[in-house]
Amino acid sequence: MQLVSNNIREAMGGASFIRKMFEVGIELKKQYGADNVYDFSLGNPDAPPPAGAAAGLCKVAETANEPFALGYMPNAGYPETRGAIAGSLTREQGVDVPLSHVVVTTGAAGAINVLFRAVLESGDEVVCPAPYFMEYRFYAGNFGGVLKPVQSRDFTFELDVEAIEQALTPRTKAILINSPNNPTGQIYTRAELEALADVMRRHMRKTGKVLYLISDEPYRALNFDGVEIPSLFDIYEYTVIVGSYSKTLSLAGARIGYLAVCPAMPDPMELINGVIMTNRILGFVNAPAIAQKLLTCMIDEQVDLRLYRERRDAMAKVLDHAGIRYNMPKGALYFFPQSPIPDDAEFVNTLLKERILAVPGRGFGTPGYFRLAFCVPMSSIEKSAEGFARVVRSL
Ligand code: PLP
Repeated sequence: MQLVSNNIREAMGGASFIRKMFEVGIELKKQYGADNVYDFSLGNPDAPPPAGAAAGLCKVAETANEPFALGYMPNAGYPETRGAIAGSLTREQGVDVPLSHVVVTTGAAGAINVLFRAVLESGDEVVCPAPYFMEYRFYAGNFGGVLKPVQSRDFTFELDVEAIEQALTPRTKAILINSPNNPTGQIYTRAELEALADVMRRHMRKTGKVLYLISDEPYRALNFDGVEIPSLFDIYEYTVIVGSYSKTLSLAGARIGYLAVCPAMPDPMELINGVIMTNRILGFVNAPAIAQKLLTCMIDEQVDLRLYRERRDAMAKVLDHAGIRYNMPKGALYFFPQSPIPDDAEFVNTLLKERILAVPGRGFGTPGYFRLAFCVPMSSIEKSAEGFARVVRSL
């Protein structure tokens, strides 16, 4: 007897390389001990949350016995939390962002889902540069949307704006970008984003329909070399920024993020009220109350960037030592090196012999590469060096 829908049955049966690695990892750790397995497969930020987390939670606890302290609230979130996020975005994006344009969400994942629910008709297309965060396909599919990946430039993973332009059709409702990028660590330049905006405006003029630019920015604060991360609010008026505190504050399990509509968008209230409604009717109702209050206490803090920068640099040395080619990630928590053999899945399987866990690039829509998450202890990175080198020598 079939217990789930055909669609979910298909999704569960599909090759999730991360899930496979997770299972293999459990077995290897049982056999060899956790310290002898080098697990670079999961992007679970391991930097400790900043000091304000404990202090903030104590402050939340002080009023927790008051009526409605953790009760229902407006679907868009507590006004103080919306205000705190709006203030932080105003400083970060260099554009005045009013509280009215911010909706607090259940992580960036929740934000993308409420936005898709609000704007997609069945069959609408969402264009997205590949490689891409694999959950995007499910998020679009949740509401009848179709993800249309467009390969970025080989090896550097800069945007291929001409290829994106060619992928646009009258059914394209949005372009979804992610910078700093998971899985490549790339940060798009102002020139690339302005070229993209030009293409999008041209397309809007041609179709007479709105084309949204959704900028998924959960890694914005993880920018290791201080390069410019341009504000899209300055570049394209139909932009919606999606963000979260999963990485910036190591609060991934607290499920707290936001969605912000470009202040320059003409007549934005229909969209804003639409996402407030979809936040409700998708059953999120509102973002978690404790996480919103905690965030309001610590919005100006962030995890220690040095910790991740040192690990990135250590991982680069490991790859150099093994002779594996990569484009140095400017941000986020990942390397996306070239597989030394054409078949990335075979290469990742070979790494398992050295108890190294990685994810093949095909899992992100771009075969020929593999992803390594460097949010792991420094000792794992260093101890993996000889294993990587031995695997490459053996090929
Ligand atoms: N977008 C990207 C590119 C991600 O890598 C992730 C999580 O890894 C998310 C969105 C989801 O983030 P959140 O935990 O805020 O829902």
